[in-house]
Amino acid sequence: MTNTNEPILSYLTDMDGVLVHENHLIPGADKFLAELRTNDIPFLVLTNNSIYTARDLQARLRHTGLDIPVESIWTSALATATFLNDQRPGGTAYVVGESGLTTALHEIGYVLTDSDPDYVVLGETRTYSFEAITTAIRLITAGARFIATNPDATGPSREGILPATGSVAALITRATGREPYYVGKPNPLMMRSALRRIGAHSQSTVMIGDRMDTDVISGLEAGLRTILVTSGISGRTTAENFPFRPTLTIDSVADLVGHTRAPFDL
Ligand SMILES: [Mg+2]
Repeated sequence: MTNTNEPILSYLTDMDGVLVHENHLIPGADKFLAELRTNDIPFLVLTNNSIYTARDLQARLRHTGLDIPVESIWTSALATATFLNDQRPGGTAYVVGESGLTTALHEIGYVLTDSDPDYVVLGETRTYSFEAITTAIRLITAGARFIATNPDATGPSREGILPATGSVAALITRATGREPYYVGKPNPLMMRSALRRIGAHSQSTVMIGDRMDTDVISGLEAGLRTILVTSGISGRTTAENFPFRPTLTIDSVADLVGHTRAPFDL
């Protein structure tokens, strides 16, 4: 059981539904992040989205009014690259994904190839090609290890839901009989790599998110205290439907302003 009296020294926070919502700033998110920076409290903004590089996301967040240093953004693509670098440094991969993923793999020195790669790495894209999926299926059947950045089945768009990485992974699994290893939330590995990135420890870190089934469960399993915010997908009663609960439920990160060192005596 996490000691709730430990001081809070660092924060991990989900992005969508916590800081921004459909390209709009969630009121108070800017003040919350400003307070963390003023108080020199280490933090990392997490997203399961593997389309964009941290630099792309920084620019998109700046449009909403959030100024976040590029090194404070942690995507499932970066977590996947870190995982592969630990597992098999200097390896090779066939990637189905966007620049967020290909850039992350290039940065760890991976060679991207469709010729007998160590891994097939699947990420989010808006332009899945039948040809690329066919290549992925053949390579996995031939023995390449199957990794996916995140298990989300769908993602949001202005016009309605979109099939996401988890749905395309299901297609590949159906064809190959092989399940991917998912690195992003709810895998607590995403939390652990984030903690290591900022030199933080689980017992003195809080994970903030708007989803019980990804943010809260992965924070919990990584040994962090967790805050559920109701500014995103979850309501006040959402937590009651799960066999686990967050340490605290609040309306939004605006409630933490003025309390970032010890929010409500967590
Ligand atoms: Mg979210």
